Amino acid sequence: MTRTRKPVDAVVVGVGLVGSIVAKALVDAGLSVVGLERGPARDIVPDFQAPDAHDELKYSVRKNLMVDAAKETFTFRNRPGQTALPMRRLEMFLPGSGVGGSTVHWNGVVFRFQESDFVLRSHLRDRYGPNFVDPALGIADWGVTYADLEPHYDRFERLYGVCGKTGNLAGVRQPGGNPLEAPRSREYPNPPMKELYAGRLFRNAAESLGYHPFVGASCNLTRAYTNPLGLTLQPCVYCGFCERYACEQFAKASPLTTILPVLRANRRFELRAQAQVLRVNVDRDGRRATGVTYVDAAGRETFQPASLVIVAAYAVNNVRLLLLSGIGTPYDSRTDTGTVGRNYAFQTISAATVFYDQSVRINPFMASGATGTYIDDFSGENFDHGPHGFVGGGFIGPLLTGGRPIEFRPVPPGTPRWGREWKAAVARHYNHTVNILCHGSSMPVRTNCLDLDPSYRDAWGQPLLRVTYDFPDNDLKMSRFITAKAMEIAQRMGGQRVGGGPRSGPAMATQYQSTHNTGGTIMGDDPKRAVVNRYLQSWDVPNVFVIGASNFVHNGSYTPTGTVGALAYWAAEALTGRYLKQPGALVTA
Ligand SMILES: Cc1cc2nc3c(=O)[nH]c(=O)nc-3n(C[C@H](O)[C@H](O)[C@H](O)COP(=O)(O)OP(=O)(O)OC[C@H]3O[C@@H](n4cnc5c(N)ncnc54)[C@H](O)[C@@H]3O)c2cc1C
Repeated sequence: MTRTRKPVDAVVVGVGLVGSIVAKALVDAGLSVVGLERGPARDIVPDFQAPDAHDELKYSVRKNLMVDAAKETFTFRNRPGQTALPMRRLEMFLPGSGVGGSTVHWNGVVFRFQESDFVLRSHLRDRYGPNFVDPALGIADWGVTYADLEPHYDRFERLYGVCGKTGNLAGVRQPGGNPLEAPRSREYPNPPMKELYAGRLFRNAAESLGYHPFVGASCNLTRAYTNPLGLTLQPCVYCGFCERYACEQFAKASPLTTILPVLRANRRFELRAQAQVLRVNVDRDGRRATGVTYVDAAGRETFQPASLVIVAAYAVNNVRLLLLSGIGTPYDSRTDTGTVGRNYAFQTISAATVFYDQSVRINPFMASGATGTYIDDFSGENFDHGPHGFVGGGFIGPLLTGGRPIEFRPVPPGTPRWGREWKAAVARHYNHTVNILCHGSSMPVRTNCLDLDPSYRDAWGQPLLRVTYDFPDNDLKMSRFITAKAMEIAQRMGGQRVGGGPRSGPAMATQYQSTHNTGGTIMGDDPKRAVVNRYLQSWDVPNVFVIGASNFVHNGSYTPTGTVGALAYWAAEALTGRYLKQPGALVTA
């Protein structure tokens, strides 16, 4: 029998990056808020301390901080018509589980999207004419502009103590930063990370070709920093254990270090960990949410009544929860109708690799998850796509994340994949190799979508989310273009040999790309195509807000989380400034 808890003003599903920001805004507005998190309660002390914090087998290989695929996973296929199979070990992307969510174990690479990203359809039409965009691409304007989001990017960057050097302060170019970035109202709160030797080699080569290298921004701190909530982060020691690890130094921004200590001290907020939300409950006519149903740590099915529901469970999980709750119309790729699951996109990653002789010592173990020197010359709309026949692009540059011994074993093409020769090649090249990342955008097409799997279920008997994805032709063309640029720079970096190549299909569930899943509950002005309006409020059930990268209409050339943080603050402002004053639809279609 389902037990019922005392009603609260708001329930937040998922206590990760978005959930913590929105919950904080709601308690500050005087609401009682329950945060439901499926994973365990945890904190930097005592859960993530040396020497265990650097256990590569536990965290990188066995993925201790990710969702347990034996309980809940995804099924995957490349095309509609194929039978999707479950990912029994997560490899392709790695959604986190546990209080604080995925940024507890993220890299910390942070960007803003371009101004054109938010108005992509109009921008491409104005720049290239009405027939330029392949009609197969589901590109649309998002319903917000960069100018709308700029103050919210800024708030997120102050909260997380982002470290970088601006190249564009209110439209005035600044030396040392990225000259091609969108204008920002203020300098970053902290200076950028040190440039690694690999970055310097890349910089010299890129500059010789006329490009504009810069040190990328990070959420790995460069100095002690006290954020606006009074929480202090410490400087990074470049130990190289960020990606897939929590930081025992308090040097990486995440909800655990930037917001949860303050939020949890607020008596209007109650955190319930190990609370697996099964669905958002809606009333009989399906127009109002009444709360959520979850299974608590003792395995009891529980109903939590609430006047307002915030779905903040990470991109793909947001989509699944709406489908399980019957909120919105499931997307049908055959007819191109419906909304939930539409415009699923990912990231198009490729690399060029420079192999040096043994006199060039890269020391890859000295790094953070976000020590990178990049060029932005071939991202998004920073170059003329007219002659190329694709849209999108990507930033390019060496992002060294730590040279950890199990995962980092670069060998030149043609090396045997095991045995004595392989071992000798690993030893020979470990300290003398630079990987240049090509971090490409991802455009939506009809056949890339999310729905509920007809066959496979999770530990609670609910259908898994079925991911249908392959790299669209547009993105493969884009990848060929940007990877060729990376290879050109690589050839100038003074190595003995260059390897690598563009992304090619098919997409494989067994290959890690990034955890940059986007789309599925997209924002927009048209309720027939979008799940949420410009304030990230459900078009169908106005007391439900769905927030995260699932709102992205396409995925840009950059890492998503800066934009996710900005959207969280944007929605929080709409909630507290408008919705709470007059609950109801904030936009009429
Ligand atoms: C290894 C790795 C490296 C990354 N590096 C970068 C990077 O360098 N730059 C970048 O921009 N992005 C990076 N990301 C992505 C980044 O972590 C996400 O964009 C960010 O965490 C999204 O915030 P969110 O609040 O939407 O989701 P999360 O922070 O993941 O929070 C969602 C929470 O919801 C919980 N939840 C899910 N379903 C339920 C349910 N049914 N019931 C209750 N709770 C639920 C989850 O357990 C989780 O705690 C990385 C991700 C990974 C995994």
